[in-house]
Amino acid sequence: MALGKEISEKLREAVDRDLSFMHICGTHEAAISRAGLRSVLPPGLKIVMGPGCPVCITPQGEIDAALDLVERGCIVATYGDLLRVPGSRGSLESSGGDVRVVQGVHKAVEIARSTNKEVAFISVGFETTAPTVAATLLTRPPENFSILSCHRLVPPAMKWLLEQGEAKLHGFLLPGHVCTVVGYQDYEQFPVPQVVAGFEPEDILLGLLMLVEQVKSGEAKVENAYPRAVTREGNVRARQLMYEVFAPVDAEWRGFPVIPRSGLQLKSGFEEYDAQKKFDIPIRHVEKHSACICDRVLRGIAEPTDCRLFGKVCNPRTPVGPCMVSHEGACRIWHMFRVRQK
Ligand code: SF4
Repeated sequence: MALGKEISEKLREAVDRDLSFMHICGTHEAAISRAGLRSVLPPGLKIVMGPGCPVCITPQGEIDAALDLVERGCIVATYGDLLRVPGSRGSLESSGGDVRVVQGVHKAVEIARSTNKEVAFISVGFETTAPTVAATLLTRPPENFSILSCHRLVPPAMKWLLEQGEAKLHGFLLPGHVCTVVGYQDYEQFPVPQVVAGFEPEDILLGLLMLVEQVKSGEAKVENAYPRAVTREGNVRARQLMYEVFAPVDAEWRGFPVIPRSGLQLKSGFEEYDAQKKFDIPIRHVEKHSACICDRVLRGIAEPTDCRLFGKVCNPRTPVGPCMVSHEGACRIWHMFRVRQK
C-alpha cells in the first residue's frame, strides 16, 4: 500500500480545481468502495459511477420479455444477479416458472442437451460476455436452445453521456475488463481525457492521477494504466467472434432512452437462436412508476444515498431497483461498504 500512499500524495498535490471523473464498471465501483478510496481523495476530486452494471442497465421491457419466455413454457437460464431484477409484473424469481441459475452460456446449452424442452438463455453483459456467447453459438447448439440478447456496448453510452452533458464530467476511467477484450481504440473518438484502469486500489489511484494530469495539461487522449492486461487492439479473435455472430442495433438502456447502435442482435444465419424471433416476443418500453432513482444513478447525476429508499425500504433483502439487486450495482455496493464512503 506504500505505492497507493505515494500516488494519493501526488494526487493531493496535483488537484487544484473541482474535477469529476466517471467510471463505467461495477467492478471499479466495488474496488473503490471496498478500499474506501473516496475517503483518501483530495477535496474537489470526485469519482462518479456510470452505467457500468450490465444487469442494472437491462430495461424493464427486456425483463418482461424474459417473463414472457417463462410464460411460453421455456426453461429460462440466466445469471443469478438477474433473478430479482424487477420487470413491470414481477421478477424471474417470483415468476413461478422453471428458471435456472447458470454460471455461463455453456451451462445453459448443457441443460438444452439434457431435455426436449425449449431452453432460453437471458444473455446480458457488455463486450466482456458477448464473445463467449458468440463462440458458443458458432458451435451450433441444439435446436431447442436460444438466447434473448440483452447485450450492450459501452462506447455508444459514453457518446450519449458526453452529448447530453448532464453529469458535467472531466473524463472517464475506462473499464479494464471490457478493454481487455476489445482494446481501447474505439474510445479514441471521444475528445475527453480517458485512462484504462485495473482493479487494485493503486491501479485506480494511478488512473485518476493520469486523468488529472491530462486535464491540467489540456490534453484529451486515451492512456493505458493497465498494460499488464490491456492492449490498444485487445483480443482480436474475441472481437472477430463477437461481430461474426452479432451486429450492433439501437437499444434502450434502463435510465437512458434508445441509444443508437448500443445493443447487439443476432445476425442472419443465427436467427434460429434468437428467442425473441422464435417465440415472437415483443420488447416494449416500460415507464418507470416508483421512487427508485436507479435511472439517475446510472447516468451519474445521483448517488445511491440520494435515494430516499436507500437502506430503508430498499436493501439487499428487499431490493426495489436493480442497482440494489446486482452485486455490480452501485446501491448494493454502497450498502455493503457505506461506512467507507465517508
Ligand atoms: S436505493 Fe433502491 S430504490 Fe433507491 S435507487 Fe437504489 S435500487 Fe433504486
